[in-house]
Amino acid sequence: MAHPQPRSSVAAIPAYVPGKPSTPREGLTTYKLSSNENPYPPLPGVVEAAHGAVSVMNRYPDMGNSALYAALSARLGVPVTHLAAGTGSVALIYQLLTAFCEPGDEVVHAWRSFEAYPIAITTAAAVSVPVPVAADGRHDLDAMAAAITDRTRVVLVCTPNNPTGPAVTQSDLDAFLARVPEHVLVVVDEAYLEFVRMDDAVDGVATYARHPNVVLFRTFSKAYGLAGFRVGYAVAHDPVAAALRAVSLPFGVSHVAQAAAIASLENEAALLERVDALVAERDRVVAGLADAGWTVPEPQGNFVWFGLGPRTPELTAVAEAAGITVRPFAGEGVRVSIGEPEANDRLLQLARELRP
Ligand code: PMP
Repeated sequence: MAHPQPRSSVAAIPAYVPGKPSTPREGLTTYKLSSNENPYPPLPGVVEAAHGAVSVMNRYPDMGNSALYAALSARLGVPVTHLAAGTGSVALIYQLLTAFCEPGDEVVHAWRSFEAYPIAITTAAAVSVPVPVAADGRHDLDAMAAAITDRTRVVLVCTPNNPTGPAVTQSDLDAFLARVPEHVLVVVDEAYLEFVRMDDAVDGVATYARHPNVVLFRTFSKAYGLAGFRVGYAVAHDPVAAALRAVSLPFGVSHVAQAAAIASLENEAALLERVDALVAERDRVVAGLADAGWTVPEPQGNFVWFGLGPRTPELTAVAEAAGITVRPFAGEGVRVSIGEPEANDRLLQLARELRP
């Protein structure tokens, strides 16, 4: 029997491996540190807003996301026409590549970086041009600029970089943008923006305002703790934002997601206090790791990276035995999210026991 066949590039789409859930254990609290989630439970005000949206589940949500755009526009000081919301910021990556890449166009990105990039690029029938990150986990922006060809349509800059941790500085981003032709789009994926604490940090809104080819991708999944509701947004100039909206899945951001995102902006001060606490935990983990003889790339997100190469399964297994589920990248290393203080204590304990 002849089966209908998908486009040949579909067979080449790499699998997305989601972070494993933690395994419940008798007599031991287990922790999931495998998906860079926010360990805090939702705020009551956000839960209440989400509950309110449940009563209209027989109706489609506002496809224009108008209340969410109004709230974001007021918060960021950008026009509503410069906004596009998506089913998580990962959906916006697909939308952007679909809207801008012809088959065979090239997309330059750091590697290792967010695993959805090559998946989305191949899905769009574009060609992935991975540029290795430096030994310290930073983007090699010189090499990325040098990798741009006549076929390049998009460059993806992930800052802070998932999974290695460091963030790009504003000076380095400015120098890079000066080398990128104006017809090439530069995505600045700021999924972990709120966790950044460094000198010369990128000001995304000021940067996009100066560059018509810059697109910011942001999410409510991390700092705002809404990973399960799937809502992210892009900030870009009119033609780019309009293209992102034009190719979006109709009604992709549910009533509940819109209501919870708006409530999160209203409760932002409380949420950002939690981010401060997570950053303090991150600093404690880095200091504890250093005491135990480990050096990790400077983490600016809510996770740390152990570039262990062939020893990746060892740390993964030891962590699992200690009741923490981490995210291994075979042959490359292990990413561990910053979690509850008790979970972080366990990580430090096993780091003291393992040889670096
Ligand atoms: N960008 C980066 C760098 C990420 O790590 C993630 C989530 N893992 C995303 C985008 C997507 O986040 P979401 O789809 O939940 O908004």
